[in-house]
Amino acid sequence: MHIAILALQGAFLEHQQMVRKLGATTHLIRNPRDLALPFDGLILPGGESTSMGKMLHDFSMIEPLKSLIQSGTPVFGTCAGLVLLAKNGSNNGFSALETMDIHAKRNAYGRQLGSFYADIDIDNIGVFPGIFIRAPYIESVGQHVKVLASHHDKIVMAQDGNQLATSFHPELTDDVRIHQYFLSICDIK
Ligand code: GLN
Repeated sequence: MHIAILALQGAFLEHQQMVRKLGATTHLIRNPRDLALPFDGLILPGGESTSMGKMLHDFSMIEPLKSLIQSGTPVFGTCAGLVLLAKNGSNNGFSALETMDIHAKRNAYGRQLGSFYADIDIDNIGVFPGIFIRAPYIESVGQHVKVLASHHDKIVMAQDGNQLATSFHPELTDDVRIHQYFLSICDIK
């Protein structure tokens, strides 16, 4: 199993450590050439979605990433990564990937003070330690999107076929279950 991790900015190293712990090999994606190496799944980390969106745009990576995802490559977006995937992911004029049929609200819990910890009950996984850092939540999902977890009636984890997204940061915990679940999606594809 080989996982590519977008590494323009943000918490990509933590994802790399996590999937390596689960036995996958990895490479980091910093430019369109890195996208040409084969991989079974792709992780879009947390960070700052406006900066990542702008860099993806400047490095001409929007279209290649979109076509990989639309042709079925599994992708897992955490926090800012969720915002990049969302249909309304437009960031200050830079359109992001907009491949996942969800609407995200950025910085939905307020800015710096909106960072918190909460136990999240996830379908088929159980209670999971949720670390939220200036997190988005999902305001609405399309018909075919599975809601996997909510917190105070706001959706914080969802899956749209090959696309998985969390508002929170599982890579900042010791709990590998969500990454394990993502790798199982990569295994099926
Ligand atoms: N607030 C950030 C954004 O929308 C996301 C924060 C994060 O990834 N921890 O870009």
